[in-house]
Amino acid sequence: MKALPVETDFIVVGAGIAGLRASVELASAGRVLCLAKREVTESNTQYAQGGIAAALSDDDEVSLHLDDTLKAGDGLCNAEAARILVEEGLARIEELIEWGTQFDRTGSKIAFAKEGAHSRSRVLHAHGDSTGREIGRSLYLKARELRPIEFREFEFTTEVLMRDGRVVGVRVLDADGQLRNIFASSVLLATGGLGQVYSETTNPQVATGDGVAMAYRAGAEISDMEFVQFHPTALFLKGAPRFLLSEALRGEGGYLRNLELQRFMHKYHEMGELAPRDVVARAIAHELEVTKRPDAAVYLDLTHLNAETVRKRFPTIYSTCMRYNVDITEELIPIRPAAHYAMGGVRTDLDGRTSIPGLFAAGEVACTGVHGANRLASNSLLEGLVYGARAARSMRDGMRAVPQQLAAAATTAQSNGNTGEAEKLIQKVQSIMWQHVAVVRDGKPLKQVIADLVGLQAQLPSSGDRRSHEAANILQTGLLIARSALAREESRGAHYRLDFPLKNDQKYRKHSVVRGNTIGFE
Ligand SMILES: Cc1cc2nc3c(=O)[nH]c(=O)nc-3n(C[C@H](O)[C@H](O)[C@H](O)COP(=O)(O)OP(=O)(O)OC[C@H]3O[C@@H](n4cnc5c(N)ncnc54)[C@H](O)[C@@H]3O)c2cc1C
Repeated sequence: MKALPVETDFIVVGAGIAGLRASVELASAGRVLCLAKREVTESNTQYAQGGIAAALSDDDEVSLHLDDTLKAGDGLCNAEAARILVEEGLARIEELIEWGTQFDRTGSKIAFAKEGAHSRSRVLHAHGDSTGREIGRSLYLKARELRPIEFREFEFTTEVLMRDGRVVGVRVLDADGQLRNIFASSVLLATGGLGQVYSETTNPQVATGDGVAMAYRAGAEISDMEFVQFHPTALFLKGAPRFLLSEALRGEGGYLRNLELQRFMHKYHEMGELAPRDVVARAIAHELEVTKRPDAAVYLDLTHLNAETVRKRFPTIYSTCMRYNVDITEELIPIRPAAHYAMGGVRTDLDGRTSIPGLFAAGEVACTGVHGANRLASNSLLEGLVYGARAARSMRDGMRAVPQQLAAAATTAQSNGNTGEAEKLIQKVQSIMWQHVAVVRDGKPLKQVIADLVGLQAQLPSSGDRRSHEAANILQTGLLIARSALAREESRGAHYRLDFPLKNDQKYRKHSVVRGNTIGFE
């Protein structure tokens, strides 16, 4: 296999929507090395079903999309970041269409779906419920046309490299198990989400919080980690993955029913099944808790909808559920909440700059404050596009000579460890996080969780194989979430504290910011 280059102009870690869009933008300025830890087709982007939001329909307005985004963010959005998102999103989507993305249409007109907490039908989708895959396909093809972009799969970035307070490259555990240093003018973290910190998640295996953990270790500021969105409706069947059942199913008129088969959402919110995600997730958690049955589920009911429409509009969901012998047009679907999306991450300005010169972040790994305390459905693909392009522009503008090579050739990774140990540790962390740092949190258990996670640090395997790196990243990211959740003594958006059930604007209408061992609100 061709060895990795020792230097390039720009390093993009991640080939989801943010990394791909950034790579396309950077190609005009120099050599781009885009790294993915597995296949390019394995990312959160690939699994995005519902769609991408933009005020492109005739009865919509950018200001309405902005209002909905700010409302969902529960007082904590960076309003300027949200304005940029909804305004620049229009051009970024037009561009996608120009580059070959096939959004679904009714006749010649783009079809727009309605999702929870959107005041208009504004969600563009592709192949019914495979929007992320279609966008990823077209962006990758576009990027492949551009010669200076080199894609490398199965290259695991373990650290960012620093010199004189600046990020100058990355260290990679390559496909052959060798550690290699690669130097560049700047590095973009586009490593996606962190759902794998939890035992119940809709995220694929790659979402282990690597970018946040790497940036934190390098000394970057990390923000709003307490805000993790739990998707209310993940398939809950023994032996099946927590496959996401898109919000769009409720947008099309799906009902939620409890164990007694009663609809319950109107008890919790005037928007019923279309209430914001955190409200729906907590309502389900409450309905489950009162059953006192650890294996209980609630149900998503589509049986009253036109079966043909459901099959056509949601082909992937239909066929996946059929694989587990659930015909969603005729049967109730057992569901539970699962960790889904990280609003927080590596703190950036509006151009993707982190607090460390030379280090940029975009997409789910970043925190521009655009989502505040809770993300509006279908705004995250949009964020990857808009802020991936913006981060790339600032990397381009700040381009400088590639630093001289700091370390010579590769060193061999010590793979003398036992991946089984890493696996066990990961499962322990995931289970602790799901039990105590998920939909509902409480001060006393949170303190215990932090002590337990700190204790587990001593058990981290020193082997240096990929899974051990992931174990360290999952543990680090879990600790950042737990510490931030303990520090925010109020309930807001996706963060709910039993011991502080109310919002406290005076003290906490601010972003949490972690710098090393300190945590503050700004
Ligand atoms: C099931 C599901 C459904 C969703 N549906 C929607 C939706 O309908 N609409 C919407 O807007 N959002 C949706 N989301 C959220 C959205 O998909 C993500 O927020 C978005 O795709 C993130 O894009 P990204 O480019 O930041 O990261 P990702 O797409 O996750 O890409 C991350 C990349 O980083 C690479 N990487 C990670 N760590 C390393 C490392 N250490 N070294 C090298 N490479 C690394 C990975 O290999 C991957 O290529 C959904 C998410 C899921 C899981």
